[in-house]
Amino acid sequence: MNHSTGKNPGSRTTLPWTFPLADRLTGVRSSPVREILSILSRGDVISFAGGIPDPELFAVEEIRAAFDHVLTHHASKALQYASTEGEPALREQAAARMSRQLPTTAAQIQITSGSQEGLYLIGQALLDPGDVVLVERPTYLAAVQAFALSGARMIGIPADEDGVLPDELEQLIERHRPKFVYLIPTFQNPTGMCMPAGRRHQVAEVLLRTGTALVEDDPYGELRFSGDPVSPIAALPGMQAQTLVLNSMSKITAPGLRVGWIRGEGQILRSIAIVKQAVGLHSPVTDQLAVARYLATNDLDRHIGRLNAVYKSRRDAMHTELARILPEGATMTNPDGGMFLWVRLGNDIDTSHLLPAAVEEGVAFVPGSAFYAHDPDKTTLRLSYVTNSPDVIAEGIKRLSRAIRTHSKQPSPAAAR
Ligand code: PMP
Repeated sequence: MNHSTGKNPGSRTTLPWTFPLADRLTGVRSSPVREILSILSRGDVISFAGGIPDPELFAVEEIRAAFDHVLTHHASKALQYASTEGEPALREQAAARMSRQLPTTAAQIQITSGSQEGLYLIGQALLDPGDVVLVERPTYLAAVQAFALSGARMIGIPADEDGVLPDELEQLIERHRPKFVYLIPTFQNPTGMCMPAGRRHQVAEVLLRTGTALVEDDPYGELRFSGDPVSPIAALPGMQAQTLVLNSMSKITAPGLRVGWIRGEGQILRSIAIVKQAVGLHSPVTDQLAVARYLATNDLDRHIGRLNAVYKSRRDAMHTELARILPEGATMTNPDGGMFLWVRLGNDIDTSHLLPAAVEEGVAFVPGSAFYAHDPDKTTLRLSYVTNSPDVIAEGIKRLSRAIRTHSKQPSPAAAR
């Protein structure tokens, strides 16, 4: 193909070239969270937008020692191609951790480059164009994105403060025959909700009766600061074989490691491994071995205990400060763990219009509409409390308060038209 304009044979001006995109990319948006993070280059903006762990809390020395050990003693293995399923030492560690809640062998673990890759692999292994996936209302937007790339349609399941409603779930299953149901039952992203044991049993009962697969995403389960632990739905009688569980080191160690895993039983892991071969052969061996070494030589529970103590004080700070400033009629969650607080401002405040005013004041959040597969509640927003100290949180919430007040005084864009 000739890319020159032909006007002036001396200068070969290149015309912009448009690649013909695959249909499945139509309507798949870039993550609004990533986009908000990229506009936050202004150093003075306090960000409650991303679920970004505080780097001060990374176990840098311990992780450095693990990488040192791997490269000093196992370099020829660490730098070589390896198996798609993952390094045996890491699969063993993952299985041991998972077995605290649900008996698991190393053979039932597929190592992934973060659970985000796990979601994509599951989508590629299970979904055909036009398939339906039932998701929470609201849900983790990058899961919707990963499944949408397989051409799937996401339908939201109505929920109350305890999670999805079992009757509604059953009706949607009967109507849409979904390939699977995707849930984040423990400290959900974005609401922070933790589904109580009773509701988990009801949900499992519906899934078992209708023979519906479950994808249970659990990156936050160990970040609990209050209340009693609850078993994953996968651990309820009969659910093991019907569930794929995703876990990740991101929130309990460091997201930059990009180490996570999928627990599954039977043939499905073979299919997921075939997809993983096509995506990237295997996750980086050095990282896998270093994480395995880190887990073998450190007390991760103690580290998580430290994180939870800090995160608890930050959640308390954010909840207390928000309670002071939220307008009449607004509601918010007060999660027992995880990273996020979910606010419904109500009062017809569209939070995507509030965001520019907030950034102007020097604070950022994620507008809630990003987290709905359809029919968003536009008056919602997600705030992460894990990145900033209580003092900074207090200042950020003051700024948010100013932004809400300024924004509420302005005519809405619709009214201004
Ligand atoms: N699932 C959920 C619910 C998440 O919130 C996240 C990260 N924000 C992920 C999966 C992906 O995490 P990672 O790839 O870092 O393990």
